[in-house]
Amino acid sequence: MKPANTLFANLGTTIFTVMSQLAVENKAINLGQGFPDGNGPDDVREKAAAFLNDQPNQYPPMMGVPELRDAVAAHAKRFYGLDVGRDEVMVTSGATEAIAACLLGLINPGDEVVLIEPLYDSYLPMVRLAGGIPKLVRLMPPHWDLPRAELAVAFSAKTKAVVLNSPMNPIGKVFTADELSFIAGLVKRHDAYAVCDEVYEHLTFDGCKHIPLMTLPDMRERCLRIGSAGKTFSLTGWKVGYITAAPALLQCAAKAHQFLTFTTPPNLQRAVAYGLGKDAGYFRTLADELEKKRDSLSAGLRKVGFDVPQQPQGTYFVSADFTPLGFKGDDTSFCHFLTTEIGVAAIPISAFFEGNGPQAFVRFAFCKQDDVLAEALDRLAKLR
Ligand code: PMP
Ligand code: GLN
Repeated sequence: MKPANTLFANLGTTIFTVMSQLAVENKAINLGQGFPDGNGPDDVREKAAAFLNDQPNQYPPMMGVPELRDAVAAHAKRFYGLDVGRDEVMVTSGATEAIAACLLGLINPGDEVVLIEPLYDSYLPMVRLAGGIPKLVRLMPPHWDLPRAELAVAFSAKTKAVVLNSPMNPIGKVFTADELSFIAGLVKRHDAYAVCDEVYEHLTFDGCKHIPLMTLPDMRERCLRIGSAGKTFSLTGWKVGYITAAPALLQCAAKAHQFLTFTTPPNLQRAVAYGLGKDAGYFRTLADELEKKRDSLSAGLRKVGFDVPQQPQGTYFVSADFTPLGFKGDDTSFCHFLTTEIGVAAIPISAFFEGNGPQAFVRFAFCKQDDVLAEALDRLAKLR
């Protein structure tokens, strides 16, 4: 038999699926793959149910239903003061498709793409599929600071784009105005684009506000801003995402989107349009509730003996150093041990690095019911 595509054939199964399967097999509490264990806001689901019966269920327009394109634009104005037209929004099947569409739509073989580790697992394969050359820059524990000099060196005349994930999975870093302005300077100087993965835009804590790179001077025409209803409405299975970009740039992504998925279920789109119009209280409560869960999980992990050097300022993940527990082995074997012996699944941070990343950190998701987090901490207490 002829061989399959080499890039994909050489890839393993994503760490999120691997750990979720192991969790199921071992009846472990799954704090690995990031998904809330609630069912999302009742009114958004009720809208979807009503729309399914009352509205058409055939192919919606390729760029998304007008209601959602307008709602994404209005949301950008409401939260970030961005003036966005309907022609600057495209709906995708989750942020995953949005990332693929942006990268495939922009990159020519040989183009360089700056990526910041730890990185979300779809970025590298998609850059490579497009023939791009990844230029990796590492944030390292315990403080995960942006190494500005290294980042500057990673950019060159061949740089087509940088991928920026803020708030950042898995470490919960929210890039500051100063860091963003440094990145914006590089993007401008090298005449590049920025693919901005902002799926956790509403999940920020301690009064820390997410700033889209697109809002910085000269960035409006260079950024493709990606959001996800999966995160904003705790409905990860819906896979409704959206890209906001200047019309010509958005068209690059649209050319890829038309052959990736073409469209996304229309009545989920309509329900998300309703959701994006919810009052400020909804978005504040979402973050406030998660902040409390972050605090209780981090405190509990510290009590068990983990080192949690930094509270995440965003996302629903906390990463913890297990060195003080005296485990002999790397983060992957620690996660395996945790899942099979202790009954709690987590994600090894090295999975977010190409090659040799940090080996002593694991990521726990705290987007879970309080009693589930308490039970997980009870089980983890066995590590003491
Ligand atoms: N980007 C990041 C950083 C993520 O954590 C995730 C998923 N959880 C995605 C993209 C994908 O989002 P979606 O489920 O909307 O495809
Ligand atoms: N983004 C989620 C996480 O980081 C998982 C998404 C997936 O399973 N592909 O856990």
